[in-house]
Amino acid sequence: MSRSTRPAVRPFIGGNWKMNLRLASAVELAETLHADLSGDGEGAALDARIDVAVFPPAPYLMAVGRAMGHGPPALGGQDLSPHEDGAYTGQVSAGMLDDLNARWVLVGHSERRHGLAEPPETIRAKLRRALEADLEVVLCVGETLEERESGDAEATIVEQLRSGLEGLETLEAFPPERIVLAYEPVWAIGTGRTAHPDDAEEAHRWIRRTLGELYDRGFAAATRVVYGGSVTASNAAELFSRPEIDGGLVGGASLKAESFAAICRAAESRLGTSA
Ligand code: PEP
Repeated sequence: MSRSTRPAVRPFIGGNWKMNLRLASAVELAETLHADLSGDGEGAALDARIDVAVFPPAPYLMAVGRAMGHGPPALGGQDLSPHEDGAYTGQVSAGMLDDLNARWVLVGHSERRHGLAEPPETIRAKLRRALEADLEVVLCVGETLEERESGDAEATIVEQLRSGLEGLETLEAFPPERIVLAYEPVWAIGTGRTAHPDDAEEAHRWIRRTLGELYDRGFAAATRVVYGGSVTASNAAELFSRPEIDGGLVGGASLKAESFAAICRAAESRLGTSA
């Protein structure tokens, strides 16, 4: 599917802070980013047609949210409970994220899917819960190195996607503007080893083909698919120049305002005049 057959979509850039920073440095990063991206600092404001969200550690959501005011960036949670409320020690509910004005949430990140052996049914339940609670979701999928080297990358990604979306059969259940899909090859996350843009694009096509099969081609074209895995200020422009890559999910490089803001600005090149 070439870019010309796709409608203009809003690029998405997410900054996943993981379990990094401390309160003071998180607030400082949020303040600097907000100044950079809103135009309150020295440069111009980031084009408002780009969605930017940061995902701080849960205990810092309130302070980071306050430091960013109404954004940009928007605020997101790194995880949510599949349950509404109750006896779930340590978990964070969708309602709690909403109370803190967190609009976005990550679901299926490999550090939970693989690192914490989060089962597919839990990922599915979290996605449903997030949508029911009106949150916007970044659903992450991606293969391990072993799966790529054995030729199983496509099957793995398609299976993760189909499994995550099971039960969301209608388009009403899955508004394309509320779910961003992140292709994150596990071997590229935090390793400094970025997927070749050709390989990332190929994986994005597998994702869009699957969305087309599950829903329809128009829906697949309108859904944002972003790349994650060692995105930096140096490689972002090349990745975002590819028609299939609608932005990025960024870990390490989101911990410095300068590199994250540069990555956000690299996405401006994707905007046509009529988006
Ligand atoms: C991530 O955590 O989703 C990620 C892509 O991390 P990094 O950019 O550090 O590879």
